[in-house]
Amino acid sequence: MSERLLTQYPEELRPEAFPTTFCPGCGHVPLMTAIFEAYRLKGLKLRDTTFVSGIGCASWIPSPHFKADTLHTTHGRPIAFATGVKLAAPQRRVMVISGDGDLASIGGNHLIHAARRDVPIVAICANNFIYGMTGGQVAATTPLGHITLTTPWGNEEPPFDLCKLVLAAGARFVARWYVGHRRELIETIAAALDHEGFAFIEAISLCPTAHERRNKPRGMGVTKDLFVTIEQAQGMTEQELEPKIVCGRFAADSTRRNK
Ligand code: SF4
Repeated sequence: MSERLLTQYPEELRPEAFPTTFCPGCGHVPLMTAIFEAYRLKGLKLRDTTFVSGIGCASWIPSPHFKADTLHTTHGRPIAFATGVKLAAPQRRVMVISGDGDLASIGGNHLIHAARRDVPIVAICANNFIYGMTGGQVAATTPLGHITLTTPWGNEEPPFDLCKLVLAAGARFVARWYVGHRRELIETIAAALDHEGFAFIEAISLCPTAHERRNKPRGMGVTKDLFVTIEQAQGMTEQELEPKIVCGRFAADSTRRNK
């Protein structure tokens, strides 16, 4: 995998970061290359963006892999650091790439307040439904009934719907795609790069090591059948929708609220 990636993305990847620490089959790799493709689509260079991440597997997407300015920060705080970068260098493009445990659990407060304040950054949350790096503990995004290290009989707590959360907090660019929705994900990241305020993208990513291993045998793994688009969801009953994850752009108002 390393050789193929390095050949395909010589301008974007640091060879010294390889072999990658990502497990085979990890969804963070297609997410990483979708970000590269979005930059290529827009004709932008990674080096003109500051990438900020927190702690967890997804935080390793930009740092150490990207040939760019990267800030690998403390757990749950990448949005706070990114806000600081944006204040210090308003003309600079700033992108946060981190996981659901980092952005929605430990850093949940920063997430909702960045949405409320319309902080002009792009935040990509790689949601793998679990704390992967630490062995697979339950997260604020773990679906009901799913098996984790800390919920061996199934999660009993309802998960956050991250898109609804940031929409309710005031975000005006909000989208969700599975990493297997490659074209849609690339186009959405490219559109987020043009957005003038806070743009939030939830990328559903696979964690074969900590999540899929425990849940796939029980029929609760991540497959394409799990997802429906906003348009498909409109024709479905509440019961039909219950086990599904709705994907698409929930909001895409590109005018910035706070000038
Ligand atoms: S533990 Fe899960 S999220 Fe972390 S690198 Fe492995 S597969 Fe990816």
